[in-house]
Amino acid sequence: MCEIQYDELGPSKVIHLYSKKTQLRAIVVVDNTALGPAIGGVRVSPLVSTEEVLRLARTMTMKNSIAGIPHGGGKAGIMADPKSPEKERYFRVFAKLIKDLQEYIPGPDMGSDEEAMAWVYDEIGRACGLPEELGGLPLDKLGATGFGLAECAEVACTYAGFDLKGARVVVQGFGSVGKASAKFLSEKGAILVAASDTQGTIYSKEGLDVNQLIETKMSAGAVRYCKEGTCLGIDELFSIECDILIPAAIPDVINEENVYSIKTKLILQGANIPATRAAEEILMKRGILSVPDFIANAGGVIMAAMEYAKKTEREAFEAISLKIKKNTMRVLEKAMKEEALPRAAAEELAKEKVLKAMRCREY
Ligand code: NAD
Repeated sequence: MCEIQYDELGPSKVIHLYSKKTQLRAIVVVDNTALGPAIGGVRVSPLVSTEEVLRLARTMTMKNSIAGIPHGGGKAGIMADPKSPEKERYFRVFAKLIKDLQEYIPGPDMGSDEEAMAWVYDEIGRACGLPEELGGLPLDKLGATGFGLAECAEVACTYAGFDLKGARVVVQGFGSVGKASAKFLSEKGAILVAASDTQGTIYSKEGLDVNQLIETKMSAGAVRYCKEGTCLGIDELFSIECDILIPAAIPDVINEENVYSIKTKLILQGANIPATRAAEEILMKRGILSVPDFIANAGGVIMAAMEYAKKTEREAFEAISLKIKKNTMRVLEKAMKEEALPRAAAEELAKEKVLKAMRCREY
């Protein structure tokens, strides 16, 4: 059992759920609600741990604060196989168990999607990232987070000293975020040279056809079935030379063991917490700019909040572009001026706002 570290922000609630009859086990963390009810995704993985959910919930507090949406941060983890035939049952039970936890609004995350949110909504009338048929803005289908990453790239590449047109991009994790990032970046003239999933990496020095790769991933289930390019192992991806590296899969993949083999100019953190703090410090010393998760990948939650506020798709995309470009600039300017880690600069800005809101609250 992990020991919970409390600080001035939270966590305010850490809840372990267990249903004997269905064998459902889940964790919910409400980190902070000073800015409003917490929004955060439901991760489904047999390996999800309390520590991971705690860290992800804090990231959501930071992300929602700096994104300027009226929500605090939370997260949930269901300990199950995301491909389980029992998935709908798990989600319906999970929803019933969090029915009274009004300060937490579930959204999609790794292993959950619009359909899962529809099951939750059907049970308790509270969820975001819903299918269009239920009045939702399906953020994965629309590629909200990938769109935001491409907007972030437009600003960040000027700080990293290269042109986005012709920039060579490598994506780890060709799922919802990875595919949409590749698509929107290629529309801005960048070239995808490698992408990976759990089965391997596909690489082409000349560049991969993004639409064809998306089609392969959807039809065959893995990027290694792509007809063009060379197949490499999953860990080889991190040593491929490129201008932009996007980790868009799981936590801590950039760490002290592989950080020295990374040959890029800019990292855009598509996944949540994809790099350890120590690795981020080494990257900075090596002159590699790394835009933290809660700045770069805020597109999804901005769209979720816009959906919750009953805004249109167009308004949501406009808000993502505006907020992410502005925040990328604010954070990178501050980091450069203070010679600080971009994450530290971003945390300071996000925390300041939450603490101010907390002073107006009774508890
Ligand atoms: P997803 O399940 O759609 O895709 C994840 C992809 O990563 C899959 O293709 C999987 O095969 C691959 N993968 C898993 N482990 C890997 C490994 N070790 N090496 C290479 N590939 C691996 O999930 P997603 O929604 O794209 O989310 C990805 C990450 O982005 C998560 O950390 C999530 O929290 C974060 N995120 C997602 C959103 C969103 O809008 N979906 C928003 C913000 C942050």
